[in-house]
Amino acid sequence: MDLPYSFDKWRHIFEESFPDLDKYGSIYKDLHQHPELPCQESRTAAVVAGHLESLGYQVKKNIGGHGLVGILSNGTGKTVLLRSELDALPIKEDTGLLYASKAKQVDEDGISKHVMHACGHDMHMASLLGAADLMKSIKDIWSGTQVCLFQPNEERLLGGQAMIEDGLFSKIPLPDIVLGQHAVPIKAGTIGTRPGRVLGFLDSLDVRVYGKGTHSSTPELGIDPILIASCIVSRLQMVVAREIDTKEPCVVTCGTFHGGTDASIIPEYADFKVDVRSFNKDIQLAAVKAVKRIIQGECQAARSPKTPRILTATSCPPIDNDEQATARFTRALRGFYGDIASEKVLLMDLDMTADDFVLFGHPPGGKPIPYIYWNYGVTPGDQYDEAEREGTIQDLPCNHNSKFAPEIEPSLRAGIEALAIASVLFFEDGARSAHISSQNTVAAMSMDRFYHLY
Ligand SMILES: [Zn+2]
Ligand SMILES: [Zn+2]
Repeated sequence: MDLPYSFDKWRHIFEESFPDLDKYGSIYKDLHQHPELPCQESRTAAVVAGHLESLGYQVKKNIGGHGLVGILSNGTGKTVLLRSELDALPIKEDTGLLYASKAKQVDEDGISKHVMHACGHDMHMASLLGAADLMKSIKDIWSGTQVCLFQPNEERLLGGQAMIEDGLFSKIPLPDIVLGQHAVPIKAGTIGTRPGRVLGFLDSLDVRVYGKGTHSSTPELGIDPILIASCIVSRLQMVVAREIDTKEPCVVTCGTFHGGTDASIIPEYADFKVDVRSFNKDIQLAAVKAVKRIIQGECQAARSPKTPRILTATSCPPIDNDEQATARFTRALRGFYGDIASEKVLLMDLDMTADDFVLFGHPPGGKPIPYIYWNYGVTPGDQYDEAEREGTIQDLPCNHNSKFAPEIEPSLRAGIEALAIASVLFFEDGARSAHISSQNTVAAMSMDRFYHLY
């Protein structure tokens, strides 16, 4: 394997130059205490931009909203893009942490909401800033251009497209590879990789069904849109249960439901949002079609006076990791972690979520760029082990849960290491010393656990 250094030497270089984890832990806590809703990430973007500038990166701000990039040009060679998100979620934090968020912001619907980094994007930012620091410190072992990208509005899956439409690819050198990672509730300090498809399709529908307003005491004089919407949401569960191929995973979820203003009023309309997710394009198309048919059919059955409004708020393609690049990265991780590789490097689970990270691998009008998207664990080890013993893994706080509380260490270290290992690996063409001992290569290869999969 053509890595620039032996793994022993590589580990040594990282250890010598590793950034101060207390400093990046403090940055994490600060970002965690000051979460910002999608499209409102001004403070977060300023903190990130300021830090990148202090490290000597050339920063370009306000790309597609609060999006920004930090560029470190370090001679000829490849361009490696590392991506993080900036945004948080409208959730009231319930972790009990000393640095728990108490933040509130007015959302785009005009409603004041509690805000929490419940998806780990604060951990992603701290990890990427730490990796930017490490890559700067070890810049004599690689050459090329490092691009650190921080995207806004990921939770609504619109920030990636906004950055691209705002000319992202004219503001940075075209990447040779795009890399991203996501915190998940597996054991803190572990890293999960997987070749090929890892995340699924998403269509998010924004629906309004219409009724006829009246006094709650005379329902016969009106048409109740809340009842129509309730019937729709119940019936939507039959799409997966009764229409979709049982061999194919598919999810239909209604995550918001709003109607009316008071108990004595049957309102004019009711609103809800539905996410449709799967791993297969035909299944996705069939499920979306069935969802629309049921919405329209229920409205008709209930004498709704107006055709329902069904808007596609977001659509996101799946994530298909480049097989060769993922295999190389996994080998490098296993080699780097050596004796503890079997505990540290895991096979990533297929994940039904979607992430617009995938768009950075598809520059408009250009050839697709290979990409790798991996997971890293943030659940405290003892908590995870106990849950495993008790068979209660599914009860651990997960992303988008008000109790989601990443353990700073060893999660942060693993996040920094994974990004830096991947960067050094893919800068290999420009590496100033190309040597690896054959002994290490064999050791790394023999520890691979999942190559039989492809
Ligand atoms: Zn999320
Ligand atoms: Zn996320």
